[in-house]
Amino acid sequence: MKRLDFFYKAIFMVLLQFSALSYFPKDYEHAREQFLKGAERISKSYPKIIYTNKFSVIGDEGEELFSDFIFLDCRKFAQKSQPLLLLTSGVHGPESFVGSAAQIWFLKNESEKRCKQGVSQVIIHALNPYGFKYMRRFNKNNIDLNRNFPTTSGIYQQVNSAYKNLEDILNPKNEISSLPLRSVCVVTKLAKSLLKGQSPEDIRQASVGGQYDFPEGIYYGGAGPEPVVVWLESILPNILNSHTSVLHYDFHTGLGKKGVLHMMVGAGLTSFGKRMIKKVLKPLSNENFELTTPDEPGFYKIQGDIIDYISLLKKDGKILSLTAEYGTVGLGIFSQLKTLTRLINENQGHHFGYSSDRVKRTVKERLKDVFHPPKSTWLRKVREKNTFILTQLLDGFLSELN
Ligand SMILES: [Zn+2]
Repeated sequence: MKRLDFFYKAIFMVLLQFSALSYFPKDYEHAREQFLKGAERISKSYPKIIYTNKFSVIGDEGEELFSDFIFLDCRKFAQKSQPLLLLTSGVHGPESFVGSAAQIWFLKNESEKRCKQGVSQVIIHALNPYGFKYMRRFNKNNIDLNRNFPTTSGIYQQVNSAYKNLEDILNPKNEISSLPLRSVCVVTKLAKSLLKGQSPEDIRQASVGGQYDFPEGIYYGGAGPEPVVVWLESILPNILNSHTSVLHYDFHTGLGKKGVLHMMVGAGLTSFGKRMIKKVLKPLSNENFELTTPDEPGFYKIQGDIIDYISLLKKDGKILSLTAEYGTVGLGIFSQLKTLTRLINENQGHHFGYSSDRVKRTVKERLKDVFHPPKSTWLRKVREKNTFILTQLLDGFLSELN
């Protein structure tokens, strides 16, 4: 009998694992195929109110890679207010899996129902398709898109002098070979900076806050808006401003407590956004998510980010734009150094080459692991929380608006 119990338990665990894994796309191609399938289904139901668009970049093998855009205009079903839900994914390549899965799930399970409730939807899939396919946080031009949006004037002329002091540690300029040795070197050098009196917070803010001086360096924000940003600006303002209110989730992974969903607000939070946080987010924040601000320990401030930029596009300020950030490695200094080191390794390999295909594969896999851990408990938690914010949290917003 006991043996039979064990057998059923094992089968159950395998099924659980399989269902957690099957929620997520395997890679960029699979994600796009699933996304387009969902979009096609919706367009068959609503051929007259769906608008699609796409933006492309060229991959390393000459292939076209796409960011896909769907607008489902459901205003004719609206009762009182005409809300818009905006979902964006894949600003950072290795973080694309979670946002893509959320969008595919929403298209399949919620989109039609929400449209009948009068909730219009804009769903933008894989904003950095090159990074998704080739496992790069940054895009093909080495730009960190979440530092590239023109949120303030003169953003591309800014100088991050603390980054300058760390530049040779953050951006080694030779071919990458022996991996453990490379990682030890980077960590040792960063530790030396700590001993020189720089606090871990200073080093983190300097490294990851964004820089506009070193085009081959990590966290480079560019010299002007990237073509994908210009593309968004040509489509989004009209749609945002023709709805009475907007709720925006931009999906990320990496930062924060392991397995915890941090719903984060940006510096451009409007008074409408503040009211929504007080009335809807705070009462609903529980084991499903934590409400987090960038100045909390372990987090950091950025500029040029998508949520602040999208907030600026809605002229009457009736928008709440949030980063849905799933923690992967935790807030400890060693966990954060691990993530930073892997980003440094990948960037070094991208610009200065790898000694072998094996080293390249390992670097890419290690980077993916810190942003999309292959652990079934983490994957299950993400799936549950994604579902919560796309159903119950969305209901909370809608009842507050009506
Ligand atoms: Zn991110």
